[in-house]
Amino acid sequence: MCLSLMKNNRSMVEIYIHIPFCVRKCAYCDFLSFPADGDVQMRYKDALVQEIRGSQYAADGDVGSIFIGGGTPSVLPAYYIEEILSAIREKWTVLPDAEITIEANPGTVDREKLQVYKRAGISRISFGCQSAEDGELQLLGRIHSWKDFLESFCLAREAGFSNINVDLMSALPGQSADSWEQTLRKVAELSPEHISAYSLIIEEGTPFFETYGQGDKASLLPDEDEERLMYERTAQILETYGFHRYEISNYAKEGRECRHNTGYWTGVPYIGVGLGASSYSGSRRWKNTDSLAAYLKGDHAPQDVEELSLREQEAEFMILGLRMTAGVSCSEFRQRFGEDMEEICGDILNKYEQMGFMKRTADRIAFTGSGISVSNVILADIYSRI
Ligand code: SF4
Repeated sequence: MCLSLMKNNRSMVEIYIHIPFCVRKCAYCDFLSFPADGDVQMRYKDALVQEIRGSQYAADGDVGSIFIGGGTPSVLPAYYIEEILSAIREKWTVLPDAEITIEANPGTVDREKLQVYKRAGISRISFGCQSAEDGELQLLGRIHSWKDFLESFCLAREAGFSNINVDLMSALPGQSADSWEQTLRKVAELSPEHISAYSLIIEEGTPFFETYGQGDKASLLPDEDEERLMYERTAQILETYGFHRYEISNYAKEGRECRHNTGYWTGVPYIGVGLGASSYSGSRRWKNTDSLAAYLKGDHAPQDVEELSLREQEAEFMILGLRMTAGVSCSEFRQRFGEDMEEICGDILNKYEQMGFMKRTADRIAFTGSGISVSNVILADIYSRI
């Protein structure tokens, strides 16, 4: 199967590599991640390289971005990452200026590791910092302190990384808007190129769900109004440090928007490799097994293959594209699907435009500032009515 999307007269595809290992599990996390010893890590790396070499997916376009996510990819020996990226380059055509990101947790990188990342062509590091307050980090079950983050951030700069993202998390139990503001300011003052700021979601099956999902302690979570206040202050504060919001939860310095995530929100096809990784061709979606035992034994066959109807593809284009502050393009919609966006969902868009939550320009429709604050509800409505 060929995977690509024409972008500026060039076919583009993205690659996601999943590394499921973490030092230990955070209290709020429901990702596919867990601790593993050195032997399992080595066997996983071998299985990953085997999957890449044997992949049946021919990217007939250029690979514009690679994202090594997890889990905590930085827990692996750095030369494993080098080996995995070499296998990718042997299999697919990676553009010389491709954005190659690795996720790292503070305290899991050192000078040597960062140098190997550089040598392997990694151009961007995404640090999971979450908070600048040690009490909040402990509550979350993170393995690091604020000081650990500062040390890792400085090491990355010293190693020559000029494109760094910092992940932050708001709406924590007991967190005040002031505490959140302190975190934002402390991180923004370090001048990373990109900040992702998400609200905590209490997921079923996590220790946080047991503690805060019900009962007395649920009241420790900020209510809807407080959460909205934090969200609004995020954009205001980060703007004063030169960051602009380009997606509901993502902020970047000019020209430093994450290419990989932007590709995802604008429908660029992607190949996912590794445990539980998802892939998307534009009209079909599938994923890898999420059984580690099966994956290590060489089960790399696609699972949960889903053929998307035209309506589903259109709905996905709208839902993902509207997450971006630039919104969606009517002409691109027509070019992709051969249909008129106005005919498919013009009435819903008009309703929200009249309410002041959406705005139109000649070719695009996007959320207004107040629309972004209630985007979850609006996106669910649009999705259900396409
Ligand atoms: S570091 Fe990330 S992936 Fe690992 S347990 Fe914590 S939140 Fe989950």
